[in-house]
Amino acid sequence: MQLYNKLSAKEREALLEEAGEDRLTLSFYAYAKIGNPELFRNHLFIAWDQMDVLGRIYVAHEGINAQLSVPAKRFAEFKAFIDDIYFLENVRLNIAIEHDIKSFLKLKVKVRKKIVADGLNDDTFDVTNKGVHVDAAKFNELINDPNTILVDMRNHYESEIGHFQGAITPDVDTFRDSLDIIEEDLKEHKEDKNLVMYCTGGIRCEKASAYYKHRGFKNVFQLEGGIIEYTRQVEKQKLENKFIGKNFVFDHRRAERISEDVIAQCHQCGKPCDTHVNCANEACHLLFIQCEECAEKMNNCCSDDCKEIAALPYEEQKALRKGKGASNKIFKKGRSEVLRFKH
Ligand SMILES: [Zn+2]
Ligand SMILES: [Zn+2]
Repeated sequence: MQLYNKLSAKEREALLEEAGEDRLTLSFYAYAKIGNPELFRNHLFIAWDQMDVLGRIYVAHEGINAQLSVPAKRFAEFKAFIDDIYFLENVRLNIAIEHDIKSFLKLKVKVRKKIVADGLNDDTFDVTNKGVHVDAAKFNELINDPNTILVDMRNHYESEIGHFQGAITPDVDTFRDSLDIIEEDLKEHKEDKNLVMYCTGGIRCEKASAYYKHRGFKNVFQLEGGIIEYTRQVEKQKLENKFIGKNFVFDHRRAERISEDVIAQCHQCGKPCDTHVNCANEACHLLFIQCEECAEKMNNCCSDDCKEIAALPYEEQKALRKGKGASNKIFKKGRSEVLRFKH
């Protein structure tokens, strides 16, 4: 029995192109008590591998967090499978608005300590005492209320290319950092203001809202299903869209355009641009915003140094990397001195 992915990304890409089938990019999460995450993980892998599902899935004692690409014609089968798992029955599936058959190239199901690296000690507060979930219509109403403070619970590289009008967007690298910064900023208003928060798909707010209630905030609200679900509801119900720019997503597409506004700039020349790329020097892999002209001029690299390295024969690049640990850690996301126009 095969329990792990065997194809390389390249081989998979070729297969997907050849098949040319429609695929759905979707995500879901659920907090639940999972006694044996390892066993559950294998159960998922065996079933999904057989259905040709690809994606990145984290399983932990506290639940599951999944980002997937599912062949459109096998969606019913996929849905029936997850509905059979008692804590996933009718779980909300966030289905992407832009589809890319190559959003994921592997099936990776990993057992982790937590489904989101939130840096919180869950034993210190009641994670089930969450904020009030609101839909898009109610969310619009709340953010029009002058008594509301709207907070973006995502990291700097996400809110940089798109966010809700009027939101506080902390300049942070991690979820844990934003929790503290927001609390410090808003500590005078724990009782009198509405604290309204949002994130990509809702999962980060599940914890954040419980945490803030524990820290004494009285009126805590969270956008149900995050920006992804908001966009869907706005389109379906013809509501006013209050999100400007792009929604950063964690697959190969990197972002979904929600409004035509380009609110970010190329980190190299400063002109309006909201396209994230990774530096072509594999040893660097820095995530940053680069316009097409700069991409051409810099050979898709973040700096002259990287440009030089990326031009070397592959074997030489490998020799240079030897002994150095992976550098594409989270703290490198969008942070580097070489980026002149990154604020
Ligand atoms: Zn540029
Ligand atoms: Zn670089």
